Amino acid sequence: MSGTTHHDTDSHSEQLAKIGTGLKKRTEIALGDEFLRKAVAFTTDKLKTGKLKAMDDFGNWEMWRERGRVIREHVVSHLDYYLTQFTDNVAKAGGHVHFCQTADDAVKAFLDITQKAEAKLVAKGKSMVSEEIHLNHRLEEIGVEAVETDLGEYILQLAKETPSHLIIPAIHKNKQQIADLFSDHSGERFPPETRPLADYARQRLRNVFLEADIGLTGCNFGIAESGTVTLVSNEGNGRMVTTIPKIHVVVMGMERLVPTFADVEVMLNLLARSATGQKLTTYTSFLTGPRREGDLDGPEELHVLVLDNGRSSQLGDPQFQEVLHCIRCAACLNVCPVYRHVGGHTYGSVYSGPIGAVLTPLLQQDYKEAGQLAYASSLCGACYEACPVKIPLHDMLVQLRHRKVKLKMTPAAERIAFKSFATAFGNVTLYKMASKAAYYMQQPLLRGGAIRRAPAPLSGWTQSRFLPMKPKQSFRDRWENLQRELADKPNEKEPRS
Ligand code: SF4
Repeated sequence: MSGTTHHDTDSHSEQLAKIGTGLKKRTEIALGDEFLRKAVAFTTDKLKTGKLKAMDDFGNWEMWRERGRVIREHVVSHLDYYLTQFTDNVAKAGGHVHFCQTADDAVKAFLDITQKAEAKLVAKGKSMVSEEIHLNHRLEEIGVEAVETDLGEYILQLAKETPSHLIIPAIHKNKQQIADLFSDHSGERFPPETRPLADYARQRLRNVFLEADIGLTGCNFGIAESGTVTLVSNEGNGRMVTTIPKIHVVVMGMERLVPTFADVEVMLNLLARSATGQKLTTYTSFLTGPRREGDLDGPEELHVLVLDNGRSSQLGDPQFQEVLHCIRCAACLNVCPVYRHVGGHTYGSVYSGPIGAVLTPLLQQDYKEAGQLAYASSLCGACYEACPVKIPLHDMLVQLRHRKVKLKMTPAAERIAFKSFATAFGNVTLYKMASKAAYYMQQPLLRGGAIRRAPAPLSGWTQSRFLPMKPKQSFRDRWENLQRELADKPNEKEPRS
C-alpha cells in the first residue's frame, strides 16, 4: 500500500466515519479518495484469492457449503429450542445468560455487571455486536475505560473511527497513518514500519490485559449441546481477554448458535476459509463456563449477553429469515464491486457490504434512510456465489427495494416515472409510440452517436458514463421486417442475422 497521500485520506476517513453524513455524500467522499479505493481493492483481492485457493484445497466446496446452509437453516428455524438448550448448559457450567431485547437492554446489563464489580477498565476482544450497541460510548459516559485489544480495532479506537470491514476493521489505513496515530498518542515518533508499531501496541495492550477488571468478547458460535462459546482469532488477545480478567462477558447475537461440536467443525472450516483463506484461524478457543476448581486460569464469573435488537423480527419472514444464517465471514464484502470501490464507512453502519446493506435496514426497521443501502448494489449476485452458507443477498436487496416502493418511500418523480414505464411496457401500441418518440427526443442531446451529458434525473448516469444512442429502427421493427421478408421467400427457413 502506498503512503503518499495519507494526510488527505485521513480527513476523508474521518468524514466518512461520521455516520450522519448521508449515503450520497459519503459515496462521493469515498469515490474521491483514491488511496481508500486502492487500499480496499488491494486487500479484498488478497482475501478473495486466498479464499479461492482454500476452496480448491478443501475439495467439494459446494457440498460443504450446502452442509453449512443446512446447519444454519436448522438452527434458525428452531432457535427457541437451541437458545433454551444453550442457556441451560451455560448455567450448568456455572455461567449466567442475560437475554437483551434491545441495544439499550444489553448496555444496561453490561453496565450492571460493571458497577457491581466496581470495574474501571474493560479489555475488549473483537466484537461487532458491541459496536452495534455502541457500548464504548456508554462506558465512557460512566467513567469506565474500554480498550480495544484487537490490533485493527485498537488503531480505529485511537483514530476515533468505526470498523470499515467485518474482519479487517482498519482495511483503509496504511502504515504511515498508523505510525502518525501511535506517535500522536504516545508522544514518541514512530517510523512507518510493522515491527516498532506492533511492539508499541503489544506493550500498551499487555498492561491492559493485566489490569483489566472485565474481559469482553464476541462469540463466533455458541454450541447448544454444551453451552460452549467458540472464538476464532488470529491474534493472541482473545485468549488474554478471556483468561486474565476476573470477569468475562460475552456479547452475542441471538442467532449465533450451532447444535453440536460436529456442526461447529463444519462452520469453522467454512468461516476460516471464506474469511481469510486459512484452514483454521491461528487461535480457536472453546470456552465452557467460568474457571473450575483445579483450573490454572480463567475468569471467576462468566456472563453471556444474548442480543435480539431486531433479529427476532426476521424470524418467520419468508423473504428475510435467511439473513440470520450469516456467519460474518465478510466474503460477500470482498467480492462486491460496490464495497470494493467505496469501503465500509460509506454504508454508515457497523455492518457494511452486501450483508450490511440487507441487515442494517432490517435490524433498524428503517426502510427510509437505512433502506437506501438496498440501492448500493449492482445486483450481480457475486455476494451469493461467495457466501459459504448460500444467503441470497441479491434477492433480498430486490425485496428491500420492493418494500420501500410498497411503503411509498421512493421519490414521487421516481414513482411516476416507473408507473409510466410500466404502462408503456404493458401496451404494444403505447410501447411503439414511446419508442419512436424517444428516438426523436434524444436528437438534441446526441454527440458522436451517444448522449454524453443528459439533463436531470439522467445526469447522474452521464457523469461517469454515456448513454448509447437509441437506433431509429427497434429490434421489434427489425424482427417484423425480417419475418415479412421470410414470408415473401418461402424457401428460406431461418432469418438471416
Ligand atoms: S452474508 Fe454470507 S458471505 Fe456475507 S458475511 Fe454473511 S456469511 Fe459471509
